Amino acid sequence: MDEDVATSTDTGFAALGLRPELLRALADLGYEEPTPIQREAIAPLVAGHDLVGQAATGTGKTAAFALPLLQGLAPGASDAPAALVLVPTRELAEQVSQAVYRYGRDLHVRVLPVYGGQPISRQLQVLRRGVDVVVGTPGRILDHIERETLRLDAVRTVVLDEADEMLDMGFAEDIEAILTETPEQRQTVLFSATMPPRIDAIARRHLREPLRIQMGRDTAAADALPAVRQSAYLVARAHKTAALGRVLDVEAPTAAIVFCRTREEVDEVTQSLNGRGFRAEALHGGLSQDQRDRVMGRLRSGATELLVATDVAARGLDVEQLTHVINYNVPSAPEAYVHRIGRVGRAGRTGAAITLAEPREQRMLKAIERLTGQRIVLEKLPTVTDLRARRLEVIRTTVQEAMAADDLDRFRSVLASLTDDADVEQVALAGLKLLHEANGGDVDEPEIPSIAPQREREFENRAARRGSNGPGRGRPAEDAVTRVFVGLGRRAGLRPQDLVGAIAGEAGLPARDVGAIQITDRFALVEVPEADAERVIRALSHSTIRGRRPTVRRDRPHR
Ligand code: AMP
Repeated sequence: MDEDVATSTDTGFAALGLRPELLRALADLGYEEPTPIQREAIAPLVAGHDLVGQAATGTGKTAAFALPLLQGLAPGASDAPAALVLVPTRELAEQVSQAVYRYGRDLHVRVLPVYGGQPISRQLQVLRRGVDVVVGTPGRILDHIERETLRLDAVRTVVLDEADEMLDMGFAEDIEAILTETPEQRQTVLFSATMPPRIDAIARRHLREPLRIQMGRDTAAADALPAVRQSAYLVARAHKTAALGRVLDVEAPTAAIVFCRTREEVDEVTQSLNGRGFRAEALHGGLSQDQRDRVMGRLRSGATELLVATDVAARGLDVEQLTHVINYNVPSAPEAYVHRIGRVGRAGRTGAAITLAEPREQRMLKAIERLTGQRIVLEKLPTVTDLRARRLEVIRTTVQEAMAADDLDRFRSVLASLTDDADVEQVALAGLKLLHEANGGDVDEPEIPSIAPQREREFENRAARRGSNGPGRGRPAEDAVTRVFVGLGRRAGLRPQDLVGAIAGEAGLPARDVGAIQITDRFALVEVPEADAERVIRALSHSTIRGRRPTVRRDRPHR
C-alpha cells in the first residue's frame, strides 16, 4: 500500500503552488489529489497564461479555473469585481459560485451569482456593497452593464465556462459585447466540452497565445481491460444515495468497492448505506495504516460487504473476492475509470462495473467508451416494483434451499400442532410472511424519477436545431415533443436565449433538450420533450422572464 497516502494532500495541490488558505479549504473538503485537468491547468493559469481547455463536466474543470482565480485575488481590495465567469445557465451559475465560495472560504471572497429570473434588486444591493467574483449568464450580465450597475474595468480574469453550450444558446453576441467591456490586458480562460470551429474562432479573436489542454487523449491505459460487465445509471444528484442503495439491493455483491470523489462524500455514502442495512466501511486517506489493514481484513472475511473509498485510499489495494466496482460519480478522467475497474474480473473471474452518472456527465461516459473501446450499457434504475419482486424471489430461493436440507424433522411437532386447526397452506404462508419481514419487509420508498439518455445524435444536432424556427424541424421523429405557449413575444423584447435560459434555469431541463423556438410579436412557442412538459410549464408559470410573469400553457393544436 502507498506510503504517501497520508501526505498526498500536501504533495498534490501544494506542488501546484497554491496558497495555504486554498490548501486548507481543499483539505477540509476532502479533495485528496488534483484531477488530471487540474494538474495541467492550474500552474499555467496561476502564471497568468490564457488557456483553452477541452473538458466536460465531471473532470474537475471548475476547480481548475476557480483555484488560480482565487490565488491571485486580494478580496476586498476594490469594490469592482476582479474576475468574471460566464456560464450558460442559472444552475451552473449557482454551482460555480458556490464552488468559488467554498474554495475561497478562508480568503473571505465575495462572490455573486447573476442570472435572469432572479429579482434584479437583490443583485443590485450586493453589487453596490462590492464583490470580488461575478458568475453569471451572459444575458443578465449584459443587462447590468447596460444599466451601468456592473463595472468590468477592474476585471483581471474572464472565464468562459461551457463555451459550446453558451454558443448553442445564442449567447455569442452577448459574449462579444461583454468581452469588449473588459480590459485588454486581462487573462482569458475558455473551457468547452467540444471544440467546434466557432469556439476556435472565439479563442483566436479574444485569447492571447493560449495554452491548449485536451482531456481524454491518452489511450495507453486501456490495454489490459478485464472482462467486466459495464453499465451505468442516469440519476439526478438529489436521488443518488437512494439510487445507490437500490442498485446494490438488486446486484447483491459479495464484495464491492464504492468509489467516491472526496473524503466528505465517502463519509456521507458510508453512513447512508449503513442506514439502509448494508455493512459498509469507509476507507480514505485519513485512516492510519493499521486501521486500513483492519478494514481490509473485514472485507476479506466477509464481515463487511462494501468498502467506500477515494481513489487515493484504494491505491494498491488488492482484494481477490471483489465482485463489483461501483462508481458513485463518473471518474474525473477516463484513465481513472480503467484503473478502478481493473480491480474486478481478475484471473478469469467475472465482475461488474457500475457507474452512477448525473445527466450532465453523459459526455464523460462517451469519452470512457472511446478510450476502452467497450460499451457501457445505460440501464434503467430498478423500480420499487422490481425491488419487491426481487425480495420475493430471494425468499423463494431461500425456502427452496431450506427444503432440500435434511435437518427439518425437528420442526415436525410444531407443524403438527399448528395444523390441528389450520391447513398446511395457511401455516406455510404465515412462515413466508415472517421470513419476508425478517428480510427487511415491504419496500417502502418513493420512486426515483428515471432520466432518458441523451442520444448521440442529439449531441450533434443540437446546434443545428437551435437556429431553426419552424416547429417540428430537427428533432428525431421518435421523440414525443410538446409545444408550450408563452405569452411574451418580440414586443416584450423576448429572445430565444431568454426562453432557453429560463427553461434550463427554472425547470432544470438541459438546454440541449429545448427544441425549436418560434417567437412572434406577442407570444412564443417552444418545443420541449413531452415527458418534461408539465414540469417546464409549472416552472415557467412561476418565473419572471424579461421582467414579466407570462401566461404559460400547452399550445392548443388548432392555432
Ligand atoms: P466539475 O467537473 O468541475 O463539475 O467537478 C465535478 C465534481 O468533482 C465536483 O463535485 C467537485 O466538487 C469534484 N472535484 C473537483 N476536483 C476534485 C478533486 N481534486 N478531488 C475530488 N473531487 C473533486
